[in-house]
Order: sequence, then C-alpha cells, then structure tokens
Amino acid sequence: MTELRFGSAAKLYSSTIHEPLPNHLDLLDRWFPALIVRETKQDGTFRKEAEYNDREFCIEAVKYNGSFYSGGSRRVAQITGRLVGTAKGNQEKERKTASILQKHLAEVMVTDFSVLTELQKSVLERIEPFNEAQRESFYVSMLEYIEAMLVEWENKPEYERLEELFPLDTEVFEGILYNAVYQMVIQTDQSIANGYLWLLLGGLLRNEAGRVLRLYDSSFIPIRRQSSEDGTLRDRLRYLIAPEQYESFYEGDDLDMRYPGIEWYCDRCEAHLNEQEGFTDRDPIWVCTACGYENRIDADVIYNSREDYHHQVRPMTEEEVRHAVAERAEIKKRK
Ligand SMILES: [Zn+2]
Repeated sequence: MTELRFGSAAKLYSSTIHEPLPNHLDLLDRWFPALIVRETKQDGTFRKEAEYNDREFCIEAVKYNGSFYSGGSRRVAQITGRLVGTAKGNQEKERKTASILQKHLAEVMVTDFSVLTELQKSVLERIEPFNEAQRESFYVSMLEYIEAMLVEWENKPEYERLEELFPLDTEVFEGILYNAVYQMVIQTDQSIANGYLWLLLGGLLRNEAGRVLRLYDSSFIPIRRQSSEDGTLRDRLRYLIAPEQYESFYEGDDLDMRYPGIEWYCDRCEAHLNEQEGFTDRDPIWVCTACGYENRIDADVIYNSREDYHHQVRPMTEEEVRHAVAERAEIKKRK
C-alpha cells in the first residue's frame, strides 16, 4: 500500500541514511520542529508521561537521552499514529483530535509565512550533507514513491479512497505531487528539499494541505499579492468592493524578470507558460509551445487570480507592477 502519508514520506530519508525510523514523537519533531511536539521539563526524579494539550494544540513531552519520551501514553500514541498515518491498529481512535491538529497546522502555515521558510531551511539542512550516492538514491526513492502513489491512486476505486483515513481530494493529491515533482526536477539542493517538504506536508496535513497549496507556489513563495490583505473574509470582501484602497505587492525574489513571480498561462490551452522551454517574459509575445497560440505578455493581462482573469476584472497596470517590484527590491536592500 502506497499512500501519501507522513510516515511513508519520512521513511525515504531514514532509508537513505540507513537509520531505523525514529519514534513518532521524534519523527514529527524532526520535520516539523516546535510545531507539534513541545519539550517540557522532567518532573523531579520522575519522567512524565507525554500529554496532549488541547488548548495549545500540541503534545507536551520530556526528552530523555535526546529523544522524546511518551511514557506509554495511549492517547498520545493514538494521536501521533493517526498523524504519521502508517501505524496499524484502530484508525478511529483520536482521529478527531488528529484532524483538529491538521487544521490548526494549516492555519499556522497560511497565516504566518515565516513558518514555511523555517521548515524549508530545516529540510535543506538535512539534505545538504548528503554525499553523491545518497543524493542520487534519495532522489530516485522520491520519484519511485510518487510513481507508486500514482499507480495506487489510479487503480483504487473512488469508494475505497473515500474510506481511507483522512481521505484526499483529487485536486489536493494532484497539487502536492505536481509541486513536488516541479521542484525536484530543478535538481538543486533547495528544490529537492522543497519537493520533499511537499510530500511531508501533504502526508501530514492530507486535505488540509489544500489551503497551503492555494496560498503558496511550489517553492513556498506566497501567491497572494494584495498588500493589505490579511486573509479575513471582511478584508477579502472589502477588496471586491473597494479595490482602489489596495496596493499590489510582490514577495518573490526573481527580481531580474520583467514581471517577477507572475505565472503565465496560455489563453487558448491554459498551458503553464513559465515551464515551457526557453520561456522569457522579456518579449511582448510568447508563442505557446503546446498549441501555437500567441500570448501577449504585458502588465494589463496580469490578474490577481484565475477567477479575476475569467471574469476579466481588476487587471493590473504596468505602473502597479513596477511599483510593487520596486518596493520589494527596496525591502530586500534594507535586509
Ligand atoms: Zn497554448
């Protein structure tokens, strides 16, 4: 059985460095440091049993010899078992708690951009020390894992998929795999780390990863571009009603592009033009290599969202784009 599960994704790294898979608490702490497991101090001479803290959405545990100690807490074992997703036994036990934790983690990731930046860094720190052979075997094992998941997905009837623990929507499943491979094939340490983070994230959050997918591009750069948007419904409605109160802003780093961070899609076949060989946004027109359509590359055909594009509302202006990029360059300089 090959499913998108945190445990199976985490195993790829452990196999690469030939270590036995760490215990669940250590494993969650390794890839999602400080987000799920929190260290508490030992209680006098007694080691405390790990506990789940409902209010803080975290598991509190003491460390013993550098490793988290569960103290045989059944509840904690069941919660981590659901999150890791490869544990045998009753899948219903603490499923609800685990799903609340998934929702909470997704919420943290979409409201605080720095969280994903930190996760990217910590994954990269583990991948960088690989020697040539490890790097190769890790890469291949990721591809094989993705291929095996695809085969299983295609062959599993929908009603069986819906009975899985935390069933996945097709859109989320495909989004995760696409982003993972998109990054991997760039073949830098950072992009392989990014690809791996998508698998870990997708495995851990399952459907809740959809929120992360909608807000970040494959390299975890936030997609949203309204400066005052705080993501609340009130704010989003205000943007629809009074867009002039908003200013475009840009968060990407590819400042040498004419329109940095903008994803271009073919107007006829919707192919993602940025991925096409030799794509540049320097020319006024790009001929889609898939269908031959001549796409205009200009500020007034840039929209904040696909929806805005479909309705042809609120296009950006050259001035807005230039202003947003200049601001970003200024912020980068100050850093
Ligand atoms: Zn096309």
